[in-house]
Amino acid sequence: MFENLAPVINNSPLFKSVFDNATANAVQLMDKDGYILDVNPAFTTAFGYTKEDLHGKHIRVLFTAEDQASQLPEIEIEKVNQHRSAVDRNYTIHKDGSCIWVTGESILAKDDDGNECIIKVMQDIHEQKLLEKFLKESKEFSESVVKSIADALVVSDLNFRIVKANNAFYNLFKINAKSVEGLHLNELENALLTSEKLKQQLNQMVENEEARDFQMESMDDSESKRHYAFKGSFIDGKLVNKKIVLVISDITDKIKSEQQRDDLLAFVIHELRNPLANITLCNTLLQQCIEENDKKSAEEFIAKSDSNTQRLKSLIQELYDATQAGSGNLHFNKKTFSFGELVKEVIDGVQLSNTNHEIRKTGVVDLEVHADRARISQVLNNYLLNAIKYSPAATKVDLLLAVENGNVVVSVKDYGPGIEQEKLSHLFDRYYRADNTKKVEGLGLGLYLSKQIIDAHNGRVWVESKVNEGSTFYFSIPTAS
Ligand code: ADP
Repeated sequence: MFENLAPVINNSPLFKSVFDNATANAVQLMDKDGYILDVNPAFTTAFGYTKEDLHGKHIRVLFTAEDQASQLPEIEIEKVNQHRSAVDRNYTIHKDGSCIWVTGESILAKDDDGNECIIKVMQDIHEQKLLEKFLKESKEFSESVVKSIADALVVSDLNFRIVKANNAFYNLFKINAKSVEGLHLNELENALLTSEKLKQQLNQMVENEEARDFQMESMDDSESKRHYAFKGSFIDGKLVNKKIVLVISDITDKIKSEQQRDDLLAFVIHELRNPLANITLCNTLLQQCIEENDKKSAEEFIAKSDSNTQRLKSLIQELYDATQAGSGNLHFNKKTFSFGELVKEVIDGVQLSNTNHEIRKTGVVDLEVHADRARISQVLNNYLLNAIKYSPAATKVDLLLAVENGNVVVSVKDYGPGIEQEKLSHLFDRYYRADNTKKVEGLGLGLYLSKQIIDAHNGRVWVESKVNEGSTFYFSIPTAS
C-alpha cells in the first residue's frame, strides 16, 4: 500500500531536497490513515527514531498514553483529511521515552497523478513550553502572594491608573466596584484615595523617582478619625513599564494604643513623682532641723519621709506585679494557715497607720485555708485601705467574715460616696479609676491585682454599691478542707 504513495515525494525533487536537508524542521510522511511512511534526518535527530523504527506504524505510537486515550492522534488525522491541514501542540514521545513538547503542522498533499499523503512538519518547542509554564506558575505564585498580603496593595502606572489591587484593598476602602483595574485613582469612590494630599505625595514620589513612606488620616462612616500608613515604591522591569506599588495599612489601633501607653506612662510618672517630691522636701527640712538642732521636728520629717518611701515602694511593687500578672507570671506560694489570724493581723496593721477610721470586725472564721498568705493579705489590705481612702468623711469601716458553701467570704463595707452602677463592672480592670475619685492618689491596679490573686485561688471577687450609701467589696476563697 505504501509503494503507490512514493511518487508524492519522488515526483518532487524540490520537496525531497527540503525533506533530506532540513535541520530545524522534523518531517513525518504518513498515509491518509496516519500510518508512517518516512521520517527525515531532522526527525531522527530530534526524536531518536529512524525511518525503519517507525515505518508502517500508526502515529499513535508517538503520542502519550493520555493523548492516546483521548483519541488525539485520530482526531488530528481526521482534521487533516477534512480541512487539508491541521495545527497541533502536544507531547511527542522520544525514542528514549521522554516527552517533548512540539508544534506540528500537517498538510494533505497530492501530486500530479492524484497520489495523496500527509506531510507533518514538527518543531521542538519544549524549552519555550517550559518557559511558558514557568511564567504561568510565577504569575500564579505572585498573584497568590498579592492575595495573601493582609495589607491593602494597589499597583498603578505612573499616571495613577490602576493595574492591580488585592482583596484587602477593596475591603479597607469599602470599594464596591467589581474591579478597579483600568480605573484612575481619582475615579474611586473614596475620599482618601481621591484626596489632593495623596495626589501630592504620589506626584512627588514620581518626580523624585524615590520610594516614599507617609501617613494620612481620614474620617470613616461614623465620622471618627482613622490613620493609614502608606509605603510607596516602584517596580521596574525590562519587559514591563515602570509601576507604582502602594501598600496601605490601617494603623488606627496602633496609634490609639501608643497614645494610651503614653497617657499611662505620664500618669504613672505623675503618681511616682508625688512621694518622691515629698521625700526630697522632707530631706531639705531635715537638713534645716539638724542645723537648728530641732530633734523633735527632725523625727517627724524622718517618719514622713519613711511613709513616702513606703508609698513609693508599694507603687513600684504594684506596677511590677501588674506586669507579672499581665504575662501570667504571678507566682503563688500556697500553705495552710489560720484565716482568722491573718485577718486580725491585717486589721491591726491598717489600723495602726489609719486612726481616723475604726475597723469593726464581725463574724468569726475559726478555720484554715490553703493559700498564699502574703497575697491574700495584700487583697484584704487593698480592700481596707480603699475603704478608708475613698471615704475620707466617714469614721467607720465594717469587715464581715462568713463561711458559705465551703468558702470563706470576706466583705469590706465603707460609708463613702459609693460608685455609679455602670462603673461597677470596670473596677477590677487594669488601670481603671472612676472619674470622681481621680483626685485621690492611686494607679488603678490594686483591685486588678486582687482579682488576679483571688482567681488564682479559685475564688471570686465582686462589689455592691449605691451612690451616697457607700460600697461593699467582697472576696471568697475555698476553705482548706
Ligand atoms: P487605686 O485605688 O489605686 O486607684 P484600685 O484598683 O484599688 O486602684 O481601685 C480602682 C478604682 O476603683 C479606684 O480608682 C476608685 O475609682 C474605685 N474604688 C475602689 N475602691 C473604692 C471604694 N471603696 N469606694 C469608691 N471607689 C472605689
